[in-house]
Amino acid sequence: MPRRFGAFGGAYVPETLVPALAELERAWRSARRDPGFRSELRRWSRQLGGRPTPLYPAENFSRRGGGAEIWLKREDLLHGGAHKFNNALGQGLLARRMGKRRLIAETGAGQHGVATAMIGAALGLPTEVYMGRVDIERQAPNVQRMELLGATVHPVTAGRRTLKEAINAALRDWIGSVETTHYVLGSAVGPHPFPSMVCDFQSVIGREIVAQSRALWGRAPDLAVACVGGGSNAIGTFHPLLRTPVELLGVEAGGRGDGVGASSLTQGRPGILHGAYTYVLQDAEGQVRDTESVSAGLDYAAVGPEHAMLRASGRVRYVSVRDDQALRAFHWLAEDEGILPALEPSHALFAALREARRRPRRSRVVVTLSGRGDKDLEVVLQHGSHRPR
Ligand SMILES: *Cc1c(COP(=O)(O)O)cnc(C)c1O
Repeated sequence: MPRRFGAFGGAYVPETLVPALAELERAWRSARRDPGFRSELRRWSRQLGGRPTPLYPAENFSRRGGGAEIWLKREDLLHGGAHKFNNALGQGLLARRMGKRRLIAETGAGQHGVATAMIGAALGLPTEVYMGRVDIERQAPNVQRMELLGATVHPVTAGRRTLKEAINAALRDWIGSVETTHYVLGSAVGPHPFPSMVCDFQSVIGREIVAQSRALWGRAPDLAVACVGGGSNAIGTFHPLLRTPVELLGVEAGGRGDGVGASSLTQGRPGILHGAYTYVLQDAEGQVRDTESVSAGLDYAAVGPEHAMLRASGRVRYVSVRDDQALRAFHWLAEDEGILPALEPSHALFAALREARRRPRRSRVVVTLSGRGDKDLEVVLQHGSHRPR
């Protein structure tokens, strides 16, 4: 488990957290070698999560591109409706193995908070979720879900009262509670060992893509595409493919197209946020900039450090897709395939279609459909004018 990814990563944290991170790393190293833990993780993934998720040929959507075949990795069919389950389950089982009696989490749009609340309930671990006051107002249904699942939601009123401040509040709680508490960080971000550990739990996505594509057509896909917020569904998709010739494309949120959106890899500079050295959207003084995206799940000013390395090495290409383009792709998939995608992977769908258009019919593009769109209906309906004619 690397501490650093080239120049990126590390653990820039207050001294009080160093022992907790070391304990977590030790526990995770021992768990991942333990066949008992691995089989327990597989069993819960199957019986509660619904894994493996299908690899689905989106034939009508592919026809719209008129080039390569587009296949969807259906993480939207996972329990809770998004890939976040993979990480929350893995960390929940690890917390139980470590003898922790309480889970805490941060959440932006509420998706990771809901996933952690589900796992907390299933494993019998009381769960408390930090959420910015602004997000609580914007995402009321997810707050209600968390509470129905038995979790406590703590409003965070510092700063801009969104995800960045919620992570700070969760880290502060953890500093005072590490003996009894595990902090379930929601993406492949933050200090070591979180980026590597979250990547491990999400890599089930890429491993299944490898096995399923081999069974379906006898070889790996030509291109894999995933959206990048913090970068967990993308790194989980890419990691098992890094040593193969498969082309990899990460898609960031470009917002309205008149600012930085939430494109830390294409618009940011190296800096430190939440304990990791990585690409950060910052102004000339190094202050973290405000982000904006139609998809709450991509709205984060930094990105996991492994993506920073993969960008630097050129192994993965990163592009940015605007709000209006993602909304168009949302409607295309809904009408072509009868699937309502979340707005986050709608960014990846738009980029995938653009790529497929340029490729021959016999090539194959896999897109990770990281979540379902039910949570986004209100936003989509507000933007009714993007509906395709
Ligand atoms: C949270 C979320 C994302 C973004 O998170 P990553 O860590 O970048 O994967 C993407 N899609 C969905 C559906 C989400 O809920």
